[in-house]
Amino acid sequence: QPVIVAIDGPSGTGKSSTSKAVAGRLGLSYLDTGAQYRAITWWMVNNGIDIEDPSAIAAVTDKPEIVSGTDPAHPTITVDGVDVAGPIRTQEVTSKVSAVSAVPEVRARITELQRSLAAAADQGIVVEGRDIGTTVLPDADLKIFLTASPEARAARRSGELKGADVNSTREALIKRDAADSSRKTSPLAKADDAVEVDTTALTLTQVIECVVTLVEE
Ligand code: C5P
Repeated sequence: QPVIVAIDGPSGTGKSSTSKAVAGRLGLSYLDTGAQYRAITWWMVNNGIDIEDPSAIAAVTDKPEIVSGTDPAHPTITVDGVDVAGPIRTQEVTSKVSAVSAVPEVRARITELQRSLAAAADQGIVVEGRDIGTTVLPDADLKIFLTASPEARAARRSGELKGADVNSTREALIKRDAADSSRKTSPLAKADDAVEVDTTALTLTQVIECVVTLVEE
C-alpha cells in the first residue's frame, strides 16, 4: 500500500525541508505544491496577464504545461519545458502568488495535477502545501500541520533570503498567510484529523524525527 503523507502550514515553518527529508528517509516521492502555484504565477506574470483580474487569470489557466519532478533528492519544476526553479522564488512572484492561487479555476487545475501525481507514486508520496489534508488528499494516511511563531518564521525566511530585512520579511509573510487563510476556495487550514506540530523551539532534525515516527506508527 503506498503511503500518503500531507504536510500543511504557513510559510517559514520548515515544511519544505521537513517534507523532502521525510520523503528521502522513507523512500517516498515528494511534491512541493507551492512550487506549482508559483510556476503558474510566473507564467501569468511573464505573459502580461493582469493579476488583479481573476477572470483574465481564469481564461488562460489551462495554457501553461506545468511538470513537477517528485524525486526528493532532486525536485524539479518546469513550465512549457523551461526550468523555473529559480525564477519562481523572486520577490515579484512571491508577492503575486496568493492572488493567482485564490482563483478557483487555478486551484481546480493544480489540484487535479496534484492528485494524479499522488496516484502515480508507487511507494507513496509526501505532499506539502496549504490545503492538502483538507482538500487535495483528504484520505491521506497521515496529516501534519506545522506551525511556528511569526518571529521564528520570519527569521527562517530571511535566513533563506540571505540577509533580507527580518521586519519586512515578517510583514510580507503575515500578509501572504492572511490572504491564503481568508480566500474562499480551499484556504490554508488545519484538517480536523491533522497532528499539529509547533516547530518554534525545535530544530529541523527534531521535526523530521517527529514526523518520521508518526509515519512509522
Ligand atoms: O509554499 P510556498 O510558500 O512556496 O507557497 C507559495 C504560495 O502558493 C502560498 O502563499 C499560497 O498562496 C499558494 N499555495 C496554495 N496552496 C497550496 C500551496 C501553496 O494556495 N497547497
